[in-house]
Amino acid sequence: MEKSQICENLERVKHKIRETCNRIGRDSSEVMLVAVSKTKPTSYIEEALSCGQIQFGENRMQELEEKMEELKEKDISWHMIGNLQTNKIKLIADKVNWVHSIEKLKYLKEFEKRAGGNKIETLIQVNISGEKQKGGVEPEDLAGILKSSTDFEHVTVCGLMGMATFTDDPEDVRHEFKLLKDLFDEHQKYNTGSVNLRELSMGMSSDMEVAIEEGATMVRVGSEIFGARNYD
Ligand SMILES: *Cc1c(COP(=O)(O)O)cnc(C)c1O
Repeated sequence: MEKSQICENLERVKHKIRETCNRIGRDSSEVMLVAVSKTKPTSYIEEALSCGQIQFGENRMQELEEKMEELKEKDISWHMIGNLQTNKIKLIADKVNWVHSIEKLKYLKEFEKRAGGNKIETLIQVNISGEKQKGGVEPEDLAGILKSSTDFEHVTVCGLMGMATFTDDPEDVRHEFKLLKDLFDEHQKYNTGSVNLRELSMGMSSDMEVAIEEGATMVRVGSEIFGARNYD
């Protein structure tokens, strides 16, 4: 894909978000578009920046660190959306704005410890597909993590993230998004201190419309904006 198509692609995705919201009576300003730039060069990110995109997501800690360093003069809000490793958290903790992929209390503690003066908004990733390799905490373990997360200073737990099963027909995964929305509603009672559940990160290029219909406040969109990837 040509770099010059990126702004057009962004407009198309934003239009789709607006249309979906209009159809179901939601305000489209409630839905944040995170442009997932993983595997793509920083010139692609700069192109998207030139047409007003400021939220960017990456799924590898090393790659995120390098891109944050290269683009440190730019006004970008960075989202870590992929697997975490405790020993690499220090690479990104003092700069990253959002982390969607918290699967263990241990990771929250490490971000808290390494944040420096940074404030980090985090989401707990929940396993909604039943597929082990997609990761995430089991729904029944969510309450325990939230109860142990109320006293952080640099970290807030502000939502839940889920990845649906890959499928050709996004209708097949509507129940998975519904499950995450139900868990989100049921766990509001744990909001206190540094826990304040208000964001629901679900939906990607192929299933963002269904996710928005089921209540997503953040969608993570890669290939629809930056083109297909050779690897993840
Ligand atoms: C790659 C990725 C996305 C974006 O996927 P697309 O299908 O390219 O939109 C979203 N969320 C996570 C966690 C990812 O790793």
